Amino acid sequence: MSEWVPTTCMRCAVGCGHKQLGVEEGYGVDVVRGDGQHPVNQGLACQRGIQESGDPDGEWLSQPLVRKGGELVETSWPNALERVAERFDAALSRDRDAVAVLGSGQQTNEAAYALGKLARGGFGTRYYDANTTLCMASAVTAYYEAFGSDAPPCTYDDIPEAESHVVWGANPAVAHPVMFRWIRESAGEDDSRLLVVDPVATDTATAADEHVQLDPGEDLSLARAVLAEIVDRGAVDREFVDEATTGFDDLVADLPDPAAAATDAGVTRGTVADLAAALEDRTLIYWGMGINQSVRGTDAARALIDLCLASGNLRSGSGPFSLTGQANSMGARVVSCKGSWPGQRPFDDPSHRTEIADEWGVPVGRLPDDVGPGPVGTIDAIDDGPVEAVYAVATNPVAGMPDATAVAERLDDTFLVVQDSFRTETTELADVVLPAATWGESEGTVVNMERTVSRVRPASDTPPTVQQDIDIIAAVADEVVPGLLPEPPVDPSAMFDEFAALTAGTKADCSGIAYERLDHELGVRWPAPESDAEGGYRYHESTDDGERWRFATPDDTANFSAPPEPDPLPEPTDEAYPLTLTTAREADGYNTGVRSRSVDDPDPVTARIDPVTVANELPDSTESDDDPAVRLETRRGTITARVDPDPAVPEGLVWIPIHHPATNALTVPATDPRSDEPNFKQCAVRLRPVPETDADAPVRAPLD
Ligand code: SF4
Repeated sequence: MSEWVPTTCMRCAVGCGHKQLGVEEGYGVDVVRGDGQHPVNQGLACQRGIQESGDPDGEWLSQPLVRKGGELVETSWPNALERVAERFDAALSRDRDAVAVLGSGQQTNEAAYALGKLARGGFGTRYYDANTTLCMASAVTAYYEAFGSDAPPCTYDDIPEAESHVVWGANPAVAHPVMFRWIRESAGEDDSRLLVVDPVATDTATAADEHVQLDPGEDLSLARAVLAEIVDRGAVDREFVDEATTGFDDLVADLPDPAAAATDAGVTRGTVADLAAALEDRTLIYWGMGINQSVRGTDAARALIDLCLASGNLRSGSGPFSLTGQANSMGARVVSCKGSWPGQRPFDDPSHRTEIADEWGVPVGRLPDDVGPGPVGTIDAIDDGPVEAVYAVATNPVAGMPDATAVAERLDDTFLVVQDSFRTETTELADVVLPAATWGESEGTVVNMERTVSRVRPASDTPPTVQQDIDIIAAVADEVVPGLLPEPPVDPSAMFDEFAALTAGTKADCSGIAYERLDHELGVRWPAPESDAEGGYRYHESTDDGERWRFATPDDTANFSAPPEPDPLPEPTDEAYPLTLTTAREADGYNTGVRSRSVDDPDPVTARIDPVTVANELPDSTESDDDPAVRLETRRGTITARVDPDPAVPEGLVWIPIHHPATNALTVPATDPRSDEPNFKQCAVRLRPVPETDADAPVRAPLD
């Protein structure tokens, strides 16, 4: 192939349109650039999106592999699939929950839909989830509870209209560069502003008009302080609250004193007043993993939505806007990976279950009774539940899940099938490895964070020993549950149509979207119930008679949260482990780093630590060390890290990147009880000098 092919960037959920040119000979993408025609980005693109789309690092998988005599050896596709079928059949004959399936926000909608259909309609397992639960589940739960439907009400069109941009627990300057450019442009207008709430002086915080540097983990306290301040200064949009919401008075009755709550959050009352004042203008509140990845994630996300509701920021140019990380995290949610059937159909509603089973041609009794415990609970079920085989698709749980050493040990005890494009820490433990096509090689669609569906297309063929994600899923289905999915090669367009038809009349209606329409319009936002309809700002409309709100709840109103009884942080600091460990994104990393580093020779972890903290904890270290190393120890493991003395990180905090395979050896596996999302952002850690004998030790080692 050697013509420019339009596609969508798969690196992050901004969803920029790209154009890509395949190499003249062989396989791969030669050149990538932003697509000037695409409605999302109009030609803009970021360097990492371009680079990782065209020339990723990492080690490509190009041949099916099976474990033989303890080693992974090359095999044929029929042999690999036969091995998978034999073991899955045997496990399922004992217990339908014996096979767990872990999907990903890296898959296309079509492949994710096919995987969900296989897991829930074919296997009938309750142990199915995508790794969106590792990043977005708290926001998803908050949206359902507040509005009755997942996804932000606002869109990118609202960014230029907003006057206050509040970025809370997110770093879009690094994670979503094109979107951050729009935010900065809008915040740079007269009478507009950017406020950033983050314990760390991130790139985004450095660009802000005001950086609110709260204590780590105190987001909920700060949000409650701001709500109390809004009430105190009489800035509640009472007309909106009375007409369109439920639960405000109960919440207000339980609010803390703003000054006391400010102290709890580690900020001044004046800072709280600044945030409350900003919300009096049209405000978008963006949030990310700093909110979601906590045992208090759902409470904190709901507290941010409460701020929008109380201040009437639920109309054009305002609202709550969760920032999605993986390119198709939103798509995985809509096609069904978390708490609902396709189109956000309620999981436990008998009529929806019957309709899904009929459409899929399976007995309704085969569908699992509940949505399962999320990825952490799924891995636990290898130890204390029925799971004996795991099918992991486009995900790297050995590096990406908390308490990763324990995850690796458990996965090592299962029959593990890994389908991926690159060698990862998880493929190293696999019993069968199925090499899949990746960006630039696949056909399908994705949904970006503002609900826009757009096409991804191949600019290159794949080697004959590599297959399309969706075809591998169909091949596994063909072996284990014949007739459930079409035989490969699968037509992605037909798979999209099947999914879209199931969403007709639902809250996430995509039935007006088809490939032909996407070819013409390039991007279409859901809900799109007709072929000429497209979603815009949800829940609000202006009519000749004034404004009207209609939320997706039974009584059409938005719900304020109940006064929270926040779960205690799972692992506060103490004498033995006196520092707080947090994890976050760095500019050059991609998820667990599979496309941006070598598996065999990863750089050591770089820990950003304030120089005062280093001096206090390691008094014998010398400033003359050019490249000081340190041992980071938590109750789960020890890693060796290079120290970057960085005053941007508050005293007492240790910052390490999420992308390194060693990072999650340290993190705690506690989860939010409502969303199942792990508490990646906080656990207790201590520093120790690296013993002489350990200088060449591996970067990751189990705790003695
Ligand atoms: S902002 Fe995100 S979607 Fe856009 S080019 Fe960069 S990585 Fe890709």
